[in-house]
Amino acid sequence: MAKTTELTETYSDALMGFILPGRSARGRMVRLDDVLEQVLSAHDYPAPITHLLSEALVLGALMGGLLKGEEAQLTLQAQTQGGVVKLLVVDFRAGAMRGYADFDDERLASLGANPGLTALFGEGYLGITFETEVKQRYQGIVPLEGDSLAEACENYFSQSEQLPTLIRVASRAGAGGRKAAGMLVQHLADGEEGRERLHVRLDHPDWEHIAVMAGSVSHNELLDPALSLEAIAWRLFHEEDEIRVQKGANLSRGCRCSAAHYETIIARFPADERDEMRGPDGTIAVDCAFCSRTFVLEI
Ligand SMILES: [Zn+2]
Repeated sequence: MAKTTELTETYSDALMGFILPGRSARGRMVRLDDVLEQVLSAHDYPAPITHLLSEALVLGALMGGLLKGEEAQLTLQAQTQGGVVKLLVVDFRAGAMRGYADFDDERLASLGANPGLTALFGEGYLGITFETEVKQRYQGIVPLEGDSLAEACENYFSQSEQLPTLIRVASRAGAGGRKAAGMLVQHLADGEEGRERLHVRLDHPDWEHIAVMAGSVSHNELLDPALSLEAIAWRLFHEEDEIRVQKGANLSRGCRCSAAHYETIIARFPADERDEMRGPDGTIAVDCAFCSRTFVLEI
């Protein structure tokens, strides 16, 4: 195997891309620790929601990592009408990540320690929106089916984008805080990333091979701090002719909320509705759902 890029850093809050040119496949790997803690610390969520949001943040980084440019954005939104979790949102822009969940406390407590995706969402939908740097939007919506959000994302790629895709996500709470990691691998039928796809075959021999190799990765490997992301790629694909790895965007917790942002939104409401929002001192308090900051507006 020829390695065309050397990466030596330890992978803490890191995103890495890789290409397997001989198999027409590309992938992303991510590890989240401090960023994950920062997003989670803005909320005080019970364990099942923390686990769910951790998985969603990994997926947001893996899919957001497919985009190029500072202005490109990936939004992942899971939604239901009557579910215990009503809304889960994660977004990713140039490595800046944020997320929150809206759920029913009492019903969640009745589900026990480890509820599955269906118990949490009931009949729900997952919307994935890619917004490119030139403001083109691609949105796909798939039912929230399968055992995990990762499986629902795989369905999105195969159904909405005709891209055979394998995704693995691992998340664990330990002494050093919560850590989460994941890998996405997909087959590009034409060979090179960025060119138009000519046809799609889920049974393409190259894809079948790569899916077996990639699918053999364990949760322990994904989370093992002694193993760099590059080392994992090497373990999985060392029999390939070539693997190219590339460092992805620097990851951070980022929220774009500001008083000016909320003033713009509140200013769109009619005056009588704004008056109903006011507290006793005449100001309007707005909470950012993502980072739990409160903005007191004098508008
Ligand atoms: Zn915010």
